[in-house]
Amino acid sequence: MKKIPPVDLTRQYKLIKAETDSAVLEILNSGRYIGGEAVATFEEKFANYIGVTECVGCNSGTDALFLALKALNIGAGDEVITSPFTFFATAEVITRVGAKPVFVDIELDTFNFDLTQVEQKITPQTKAIIPVHIFGQPVNMTKLMAIAKAHNLYVIEDCAQATGAAWNERKVGSIGHVGCFSFFPTKNLGACGDGGAVTTNDSAIAKQMRILKEHGSPQRYRHDFIGLNTRIDAVQAVILTIKLRYLDYWNQQRQQAANYYQELLHSVTSIKLPQAIAGGDSVWNQYTVCVTQESLNKKLKRNLVQEYLKHQGIISMIYYPIPLHLQPVYDDLGYQKGQLPIVEQAAQEVLSLPMFPGISPEEQEQVAYALKDALSEI
Ligand SMILES: *Cc1c(COP(=O)(O)O)cnc(C)c1O
Repeated sequence: MKKIPPVDLTRQYKLIKAETDSAVLEILNSGRYIGGEAVATFEEKFANYIGVTECVGCNSGTDALFLALKALNIGAGDEVITSPFTFFATAEVITRVGAKPVFVDIELDTFNFDLTQVEQKITPQTKAIIPVHIFGQPVNMTKLMAIAKAHNLYVIEDCAQATGAAWNERKVGSIGHVGCFSFFPTKNLGACGDGGAVTTNDSAIAKQMRILKEHGSPQRYRHDFIGLNTRIDAVQAVILTIKLRYLDYWNQQRQQAANYYQELLHSVTSIKLPQAIAGGDSVWNQYTVCVTQESLNKKLKRNLVQEYLKHQGIISMIYYPIPLHLQPVYDDLGYQKGQLPIVEQAAQEVLSLPMFPGISPEEQEQVAYALKDALSEI
């Protein structure tokens, strides 16, 4: 029995080992570890890839979101609409700048927030919407931008899981006012450490984000704002510049793996497969199925399936077990259990199967076989 991890990053590294090792050594020998040409080159290439005029590197996806909110002057008294089905950072930064996150229920097919419910949440306090392209699946940006325009709201795209994904042939991160990216190792474009970036076509916003990321300082030792210290290291920048050349290839491999799961699993009853939406090109950061829970009182069938797979050497993940509106830290926002029923159902049913560039058809067959076994035994 072969063990199958949820993600195996060594397979990517093997492919680019020679050029990566020598690029990293070159930086080590240069003595120039912060900023410099390596970072400028990456920012330029990434902006080109996404299809925007400006890219500003920073330390993480979390900092990218923080910079975007700050640069757009969002703070105390403001509301920001987002999805409750995302990594905590999306909402955390809204709270950290002093604004209030407002959560919209999701749709089960895509796991993205339900655009038919966004407009009802808009109040005079609403300043921005943060769509999250969750698991690599793009939000319908045509509809979202129309809503934002009608209400004069900013759109900050959380592209942390969707580097390379597109809506209507335009890359996510180039459609809203600002795009926020994470280069955490398991993301589609992953560094060998932390990293992040913001993208925009608005040079004034880009300039403000550059000032904020360096202690609110437009020139050395002069400080106009309270900012932060967040940057991408030169070592990470050269690694990302190399990996960017392989990103489309790796995303194609993810697409092929998603197609194969679809073929292997489409006839299995009691699991629901993720649906690709028309108009969108997903990059499958995760392949997440729902294990249908017939009765609410029983032990979660999804958890039993996960255990079963684990015994077969297959590690699956639960993204995300607690929707953000029910997180203890957000008790004071006043949400009740049952208020956002679809996301609460998803939290009980989702299971992310092993998905990464280089996963073999045999491994996927082993996953599918074990999953069918699990469902017939439980
Ligand atoms: C990973 C992630 C983030 C945060 O990125 P970091 O680089 O880990 O700070 C934000 N939003 C989503 C949806 C993510 O998946």
